[in-house]
Amino acid sequence: MPRSDAADSDSERACSCETHGPLNCAVVLFTRDLRVHDNPALAGAAREADRVVPLFVLEERLLAGSAPRARLLAAALHDLDRSLRRLGAALVVRRGDVAAETIRVVRESNAQAVFVAEDVSAYAHRREQRLSEQVEVRSFPGITVVPPGVVTPSGRECYRVFTPYHRAWAAMPWRAPEQRPARLTIADGVEVGDLPPSSSEGGETAARAGLERWLAEGDSLYAGLRDDLAADATSKLSIPLHLGLISPLEVATRSANRELVRQLAWRDFYAQLLAANTWSAGRDLNPRNGEWSDDPVGLAAWKEGLTGYPVVDAGMRELAATGFMHNRARMIVASFLTKDLNVDWREGAAHFASLLLDGDVASNTGNWQWAAGTGVDTRPGRIFNPTLQAQRYDRSGDYVRRWIPELRGIPGAAVHEPWRLGPLLGGGYPAPIVDHAAAAARYRARG
Ligand code: FAD
Repeated sequence: MPRSDAADSDSERACSCETHGPLNCAVVLFTRDLRVHDNPALAGAAREADRVVPLFVLEERLLAGSAPRARLLAAALHDLDRSLRRLGAALVVRRGDVAAETIRVVRESNAQAVFVAEDVSAYAHRREQRLSEQVEVRSFPGITVVPPGVVTPSGRECYRVFTPYHRAWAAMPWRAPEQRPARLTIADGVEVGDLPPSSSEGGETAARAGLERWLAEGDSLYAGLRDDLAADATSKLSIPLHLGLISPLEVATRSANRELVRQLAWRDFYAQLLAANTWSAGRDLNPRNGEWSDDPVGLAAWKEGLTGYPVVDAGMRELAATGFMHNRARMIVASFLTKDLNVDWREGAAHFASLLLDGDVASNTGNWQWAAGTGVDTRPGRIFNPTLQAQRYDRSGDYVRRWIPELRGIPGAAVHEPWRLGPLLGGGYPAPIVDHAAAAARYRARG
């Protein structure tokens, strides 16, 4: 083992959920469940197998994404390795194709099964399918609060309307969170491989500290402030949830805020929708009337935050600067792209996916389709008026001024309509690239 800092016997222990089971050895394939707490696949392997191989396969596409995302992942893997070492094991890292490398490790370790968290995308389904052709695969929950397919309407594979889904989701008994294994024994003779370099702290340890802070300080204020753009008072848990640094079930069971728990149900709703319709990551769930416009100039202005609509531009600049965007701003910019500019939602979803630190196929494409009017549970004919949205959700104008330096000299809510100021407007901020009233009339005429 080149990374030989021996597993210390840290007293930071949880329950003993380890009972030696019928398997000699199991590979635990980590994907986006990079944690040791409430990790059913890891806990299951600790119970069922004498020896485990905790494995992560670094695929090229994971490293080729945005640099901040690659940094988050690297920090998460280092932290997971430290946690596994405290339990007596280590993280085994391979590079290449996930199914091929996993099978190679199965052979090296003589493992009899692969334990993995069940996931919802077409990519995850293919991964599981390819593995199961060569080895026994045991799938576990952990990516969502309620696993996809567990609550279903009669006669259908998934819910397409949120309210009845939420009702059924909240009414069903949830599984009990899994304890961290007390001890793991790693299989002999498996090279651990090299972690990607990391210069920052992060991963599960930091995410758990963030969750504790949120529960102590933010949770109780959430319902009143979640739509206030300038307050920036949402949990930002989407980022650790995406990598599985914290368990969505743990958040849902520990949060006292019903509104926050309801948002987690939206996350599960889109996961069950994608699981049952994996093709919908790229195709309309409900076709709409009319053709999309080919508008490279409008699309570029939208991406750069230069549409002339301050709240749209503030959202797009927040995304470019931080890899995050407030949910209310996401809804406003998505409506603007798909309805004011009539540009295909796939362009917007791809741009989001390239920059968002929480970029998640199910939530991203589900929400984009909702905003574009091609999804489920969408109100037909709805188009957001960006100025009214800004006046309602950024009353002070502070969100816009935070992200658009050219407009910082304009006080109060006047910042939302800089075109009214005529010659006072300076700094090169553009005039609106489209007239919203005319765009809304065109959108409604398409029906
Ligand atoms: P909070 O308001 O604190 O909510 C708590 C948690 O609930 C979030 O962390 C998230 O896991 C979940 N949640 C909240 N709102 C939604 C929602 N509408 N749909 C699904 N889950 C939700 N979320 C992603 O995680 N990844 C994405 O790629 C993504 N793309 C989106 C694209 C568009 C066009 C829109 C309108 C929304 C998108 N969302 C996405 C949903 C939502 O905007 C983010 O989850 C939220 O802004 C994250 O911030 P937060 O953690 O502070 O949220």
